[in-house]
Parts: sequence; C-alpha cells; structure tokens
Amino acid sequence: DLRVRFAPSPTGMFHVGGARTALFNWALAEQSGGRFVLRIEDTDASRNRPEWTEGIISALDWIGINGSNPVFEGPYFQSAYEPQHREAVAKLLADGRAYYCDCTRDALVARTGSEHKGYDGYCRDRGLTEGAARFRTPDEGVTVVEDLVRGNVEFPNEAQEDFVIARSDGSPLYVLANAVDDITQNITHVVRGEEHLGNAAKQMLLWPALGATPPVWAHLPVIVNEQRKKLSKRRDKVALEDYRAEGYLAEAMVNYLMLLGWGPGEDREIMPWSEMVPLFRLEDVNAASAFFDEKKLRAFNGEYIRALPLETFEERCAPFLGPSWDRELFSKVAALAQTRIAVLSEIRQNVDFLFLEEPVFDQASWDKAMKNSPVEIITGYLERLEAVSWDPESLKEALEEVGAAHGLKLGKAQAPVRVAVTGRTVGLPLFESIEVLGRGQTMERLRAALT
Ligand code: GLU
Repeated sequence: DLRVRFAPSPTGMFHVGGARTALFNWALAEQSGGRFVLRIEDTDASRNRPEWTEGIISALDWIGINGSNPVFEGPYFQSAYEPQHREAVAKLLADGRAYYCDCTRDALVARTGSEHKGYDGYCRDRGLTEGAARFRTPDEGVTVVEDLVRGNVEFPNEAQEDFVIARSDGSPLYVLANAVDDITQNITHVVRGEEHLGNAAKQMLLWPALGATPPVWAHLPVIVNEQRKKLSKRRDKVALEDYRAEGYLAEAMVNYLMLLGWGPGEDREIMPWSEMVPLFRLEDVNAASAFFDEKKLRAFNGEYIRALPLETFEERCAPFLGPSWDRELFSKVAALAQTRIAVLSEIRQNVDFLFLEEPVFDQASWDKAMKNSPVEIITGYLERLEAVSWDPESLKEALEEVGAAHGLKLGKAQAPVRVAVTGRTVGLPLFESIEVLGRGQTMERLRAALT
C-alpha cells in the first residue's frame, strides 16, 4: 500500500511551496486509500521553534490536511527517533559501509589544493575508531535516481564524495536521519521539492546499505515569481498564513496550488479538490519551474467567493468586519459586495460606510471627487432628497436631474456624492448604498461635506 509523507522542517512560516508538496502527497494518499504521514523534521534545534510547528499543523488543517481523514497519520517528530538514527550509523560503521574520519577542513584543503573539491577518501582505510562517520560511496558506475517527474537522473559515482552521516560528537546528519525515518515509516513514495534531488542520489546508496529497497522518487519543480526567481520569503509573499489572513479561501488556495506543476487537463483550471484527487498523477507533473501568479490566484479567489451561497459568504466575511458591526445591516449589502471583492479583507472598505459614525476621510479621494461643481451638486441633491421616494431608481433619477442642470453626466455628478456619503471614490453601487444607509444619515453626511 502506498505510504507517502510530508516532512517539513519548522524553521519559518509555512510556505506556499510546502503546501503544494503536501497537497500532491495528500492527493496520492487519498486516491489510493494509502497513508499520508506527517513528520516534523525538528532536528536542527538552533533553527526550530514550537510556534512554527504549530503554524505548519494549523495551516495544513486549514487546507484540509488533518486527522479527520483516516489517511492522515502523525505527526511524528524526527527528534524522537535519534536513537534509531544513531543505530543506523553504528550499523553502517560495523558493516564497513561507513568509516571514521578525523580530517579537518583545513587539512583537506591543504591536500586537495582547493576549497571546492569533495572529500578525498583519506581516512577510508585508516581504521580510526572515532571521529565523524563518512559513508563509503562507490568509485565507479553511476547512481540513477528514477524520478517520476524528471525521468532517470544520473549521478556519476566518481563525483560523489564519501559524505558525512554523523558528526564527531555522534549526532546524525539530516540526509541519514531522513532516510532512516522513511525506511522505519515504510514510505513507498518520496515526493518533495527539487532541491532535494542531490539528497536522493545519496539516499539511493543509503537505503540498500540499510537493507531497504529505495522508494519511488518524485522531485517537484521549483516555484518561481514573476521575475522567474525562486520564490523566497525575503522577496515574495509566501506564507500561507498571510494569504489566509488576507481572506483567501482555502478552497481557492488548494485549487490554485494544485496547478503549480500539474493540471487536470482539457484546459480545466477551476476544479474542486474532490474532482482533482482521482485525476492526479505524478507522471503528469511538469518538470519545468512553475510560476506562482498572485494575480491569477486572486482571480481564482474572486470566483470562489462568488460561487459561495450568500449565507456562507456572510459567515466567511464575519471575521473581517468590525466586531460590533450589525450582521443584519450587513446582510442588506452582502449580495452587492459578493460580486465585487476578490479577497475577503476587501469587504471592510466596501461596507464600512454603513457602520462608521462618520465616513472615513482621505484627502486624495476628496481632491479627486470634488472637482466638478461639487457644492452645487451636493446642495441640489440635498434639496431633492427631502421629498424623493427612497428607492435606488428614484435616488438615481434625482441625481441625474441635478447633474443635468449643471451640465454633468451621472458619472461625474455621482463622484462628490459618493465620497461625501461613503468616504471613498469606488465602492458598492451608490444608490443601493444610499437606500440602505437611510435618508437621515445620507443627508447629514451631505450637509457635513458642505462645511
Ligand atoms: N525537511 C525537508 C524540508 O523541509 C524535507 C525533506 C524531504 O521531504 O525529504 O525541506
């Protein structure tokens, strides 16, 4: 049975690239009724923080990867398995597959005459009984990583140095610990980022040396930004948590992330998770780097927002509204807003005019809107509002007439009224907004604008 794992290191905010890797693994486990093992690789104590582990678990939960589905197993913590890692090192040493080495970096550079040459095998046959442990790699032939995404990737063995598997204090290195855990946890498919391809070449040697058959490998393409640079936390918005906080829907995020290197085919892009799962195949993952297009993600999110039942939309907006903002009042404009926002956090600027004592004030917006006879328009409109029937159609006609009297089309006449009433130059349809705001408040705001 298929067993995959997701093995993040809790060294920072959980990244969209990690989420993509997790989702690909999750799809494989779900479609086959296999298992998805979550393993937190927390062995680098100097770079780990518990809040990052919690961040990973809660972000995974948000995108639907959690224990409510029986394919989920874990989380396991790599640090708990250090005894097994040490045992594996001892076994490799005892079997002669590894040896102790006491070479310093300086001694190696002095011998090879270069900073960049790999280890020269100096200690291979010295029979030392302590030091760092190095794995003895073959001198000839090639190591082939049969990768479902990249095809057969060949690593000539002569270029593979005898790599370190444990430091001289006995602490095992990552490449070893990772392989030992995969073996212990009966992992059948290792699906991870391309940056680990070099580790796979080493692990292809480690697995058989530890008595295990290597897994199926799949190294996923790098994710790049608009400048075709690898997505990085310094340059790009990469934390899943930030997208969540901005009001991206998990469904939209999942859908978009699945398209980073894969697609369901037939030019389909918007597709719910449940339909993608049976279609997903590692063989169809594209090895070329995948462009993380934030604009496209936004557009996806807008589509997912518009597809929500109105009531669900209102619920999802709730965390983005002011805590005391009246839900019933919000309901009156929710449908208008639903078609206009791409991320949920934008709901605030669209509806705050209804809830604030006074509309927000922004000088640039006023300067922009108060250009064409604003005083005449506002005064004229105020006169009409005393008696006009309070429905969008009549409210619009009244403003059209006032505008016409000053030679202005509706669009131009609307600008000062909109900014006076809502504080903004763009927003929900004006006359529906005025209808909901009510005669008293609307007129009060227009009068205030004149002072
Ligand atoms: N812990 C590694 C990382 O965060 C993953 C290694 C693996 O998937 O094998 O990049």
